[in-house]
Amino acid sequence: MIISMRPQATKEEIEHVCERIREFGYKVHSIVGEKRVVIGAVGVGDVTPCLESLEATPGVESAVRISAPYKFVSKEFKKERTVIPVNGVDVGGSEFAIMAGPCSVESEKQIMATAEAVAASGAKILRGGAFKPRTSPYDFQGLELEGLKLLAKVRQATGLAIVTEVMSEQDVEVVAEHANIMQVGARNMQNFPLLKALGRCTRPVLLKRGMSSTIVELLMSAEYITAHGNPNVMLCERGIRTFETATRNTCDIAAVPLLNELTHLPVILDPSHATGKRSLVPALARAGVAIGADGLLVEVHPFPEKAFSDGAQSLTLDQFRALTEDLRPYLELWKAARVPARAAVSTAQ
Ligand code: PEP
Ligand code: MN
Repeated sequence: MIISMRPQATKEEIEHVCERIREFGYKVHSIVGEKRVVIGAVGVGDVTPCLESLEATPGVESAVRISAPYKFVSKEFKKERTVIPVNGVDVGGSEFAIMAGPCSVESEKQIMATAEAVAASGAKILRGGAFKPRTSPYDFQGLELEGLKLLAKVRQATGLAIVTEVMSEQDVEVVAEHANIMQVGARNMQNFPLLKALGRCTRPVLLKRGMSSTIVELLMSAEYITAHGNPNVMLCERGIRTFETATRNTCDIAAVPLLNELTHLPVILDPSHATGKRSLVPALARAGVAIGADGLLVEVHPFPEKAFSDGAQSLTLDQFRALTEDLRPYLELWKAARVPARAAVSTAQ
């Protein structure tokens, strides 16, 4: 933190500010200029409470943070990328992770047919919501425990890993019993009791960006999970809400390379929620590969027109196969780029 004192600040006020900084556990480095005193505060931990207190202290003109408010998820804290092994896929490593499946688990027939098809197209991870966060209380809310059991059954039959949403702190244990990856939906990105509970859970977490959340807020939510003990967090860009209504959300494509600059955590792109339109999904999936995402989360349904949720953005099984075939040459380039990038990181250390 850098604290600039007012030019008229008294000696007592300056000394009081230094005392307050020390009380918060930071070291003080003062620079006495011709017109004013500037104080540097150095230390570890979140400076927010200290910053807020100093802003209200007499004699202070401004108090500015100079380091990011997150620590464990930052590149400064850990230079090498976090690699999360799930079902033989190293998410964040040298293989692109494709997660696919329906928005909601609807029936055994539906989830089994989808699982077999996406596995045949190369996906290693099956998505499917059992607990659904719906805007309307009158919409399908998910099969809940029955849905989880169906997912576990499909995992047994196909060998696919499961990613499914957990909406509340109370459900963490039961979802962890049935899933490989715990999805936190956009609407729950700042459900802090849930994030803390996931910190205590041993399963990897897929944290989706809130629809009105900034990148820093996303990273702070990831920090909650890591600070509470779980380092295995994947971030997911799924589009944010803007003035644009032609697409369901606006895909913040720059978020992917930006997150790769700021954090060591894997970054997944969800082209389905990011657009809301099935016709746009393949182009955004290609974009995700090109900009260095670590994987995709794609909605797929055997009969999208009959889907209980998100049919308009779901690909058919054939369309998903075409998408994975279409991605092949791009994935070759992705792999070729990934290996030297990793070597550069290890030599830089
Ligand atoms: C979903 O993955 O089906 C979902 C509800 O996504 P989001 O939380 O991004 O809206
Ligand atoms: Mn959905």
